[in-house]
Amino acid sequence: MTGTFAGASAYHGMGFLTEAALHILLPRACAHCRGDIPLGDAEVLCLSCRELLPEPPDPACLRCGGTLGVRRDFCRSCAGRLFACRLVRAAAAHRGPAVSLVHAFKFRGLPCAARAAGRFMAREFARHGELAGFDALVPVPLHPRRERQRGYNQAEILAREVAAATGLPIMCFLERRHGKGPAWRMGKEERQTELSGAFAVRSGCEKDTTGKRLLLIDDVCATATTLEECARALREAGAADAAGWVFARA
Ligand SMILES: [Zn+2]
Ligand SMILES: [Zn+2]
Repeated sequence: MTGTFAGASAYHGMGFLTEAALHILLPRACAHCRGDIPLGDAEVLCLSCRELLPEPPDPACLRCGGTLGVRRDFCRSCAGRLFACRLVRAAAAHRGPAVSLVHAFKFRGLPCAARAAGRFMAREFARHGELAGFDALVPVPLHPRRERQRGYNQAEILAREVAAATGLPIMCFLERRHGKGPAWRMGKEERQTELSGAFAVRSGCEKDTTGKRLLLIDDVCATATTLEECARALREAGAADAAGWVFARA
């Protein structure tokens, strides 16, 4: 660690609120390499780690954006199938500094890390022509109990940054009814069972959903099961199109 009173290790055991307060008041270490971040800089990663955020997988499946071993159009899970979530694109690959940033907003209670990830998503948005033409952004909802514990829904913070850059409105059409367990801990089949029917269009939002082309916003995409379940709920309520734009692709 470098010479500042900084770094997650110094905060260890102090609790999320204390940590969030110190994050603003003291010079800090980069969440990935532990290098110094200057006082007053709101970033969570240092400049070099921000520049080293890994590119999304390439070659990637044209539908889900997942890594392909060999160059072909679709991965085995997507080939020959129809999906409610037409495509998934990611701003970064889920490794290196991208993992540290996700960890900071998911487990260390730092919403400023989600804002940093959202700014990166906003910058990368224009590189993906397939993301043009949507009517609104829809953040993937958390289970209400999990959102209370964390104090925020990171997908909403990401969506706010993308909305500020694109001018697209944010529509919180979805609610999460069950499946509060962390999906990243589960295997593919367990995840499928846990998430099946977990999302629904909020009552009263159905008529606003009809005919809309909606872009779901989430932090990490591992198997695209969450995005597919969200898109299914939107399409059942009459959405004309649904796709996903995530910060990091696992
Ligand atoms: Zn760094
Ligand atoms: Zn695929």
